[in-house]
Amino acid sequence: MKFLSIDIGGTSAKTGILNENGSILTKDSYSVCFDHYETPILNTILKETDSFLAKHNINISNLAGIGVSATGQIDTHTGTVIGSAGHIKNWIGSPIKDKLAEKYHLPVSVINDADSAAIAEQWIGAAKGHKNAIVITIGTGIGGGVIVNSSILEGKLGIAGELGHFSINNQGIPCTCGNRGCYERYASTTALIQMVREKYEQLSKPFPAEKINGRSIFHQLTLGNPIVEEMTDIWISNIADGLVSLTHIFNPEIILIGGGVSAQKELFIDKVRQKVLRRVMPQFAEGLLIEAALLSNDAGMIGAVKALLGTG
Ligand SMILES: [Zn+2]
Repeated sequence: MKFLSIDIGGTSAKTGILNENGSILTKDSYSVCFDHYETPILNTILKETDSFLAKHNINISNLAGIGVSATGQIDTHTGTVIGSAGHIKNWIGSPIKDKLAEKYHLPVSVINDADSAAIAEQWIGAAKGHKNAIVITIGTGIGGGVIVNSSILEGKLGIAGELGHFSINNQGIPCTCGNRGCYERYASTTALIQMVREKYEQLSKPFPAEKINGRSIFHQLTLGNPIVEEMTDIWISNIADGLVSLTHIFNPEIILIGGGVSAQKELFIDKVRQKVLRRVMPQFAEGLLIEAALLSNDAGMIGAVKALLGTG
């Protein structure tokens, strides 16, 4: 069995052909923001899907279905975008499932990209064999998916698990979602960059690299830069704050951390693990695994196929 899988991000999308084991046979990617979303993302997806099928000589009638993983809040019942924290123009309201089903006459499933990544990790990734898992992606913002008793936690509309938007400070920094003090304002890579920038400004010192970004911060850490060490330690404590609470709420067997920073084992993953295990109640810490996610950039495409298989 072969499936078409489409992973729609805020800046680019990936299209691939996968088999029933989640192996990627062919894939391509393309921009969805080339004209600042004047062309609605869904129009780009429909056009690029045709080009992909033609380029690889794929006969759509040989495929068993279409799995879609997409940025924003997705109503998984209707396969429609019902919210977008990043305020992407012409995205909310996009009837992804209806348009693809109408055009290609195949079963279509649509889920949020962070949920898709969690499903993928549990299927063939680092959470394989675990019934209760939290998969959190730390990047510009924070996304996540929660697996409870082997199923993704959906909630009423399929939009549960907005792990970036629980408030850890009601007097805190205003968030794009309208609330204050959201977790991602303190625990995303964006937050770390902001903290390091402010500290250097406060000390009236130049940052010892051209640009302050995730990469240069971790490079400074390897050099033993004390200011960067101090800020990163506070940031990792912020991350642990949220993970401790999530552990007490969901009692997971494993927490997987994805995103660019998760490649840093000693400087990041190991430190997050230490801080979380030190602070959770003993029964919750028993056997709790905290590891880097495995599937990185392909997780969205892989999880989308599993979600389609799971729905029959
Ligand atoms: Zn928020």
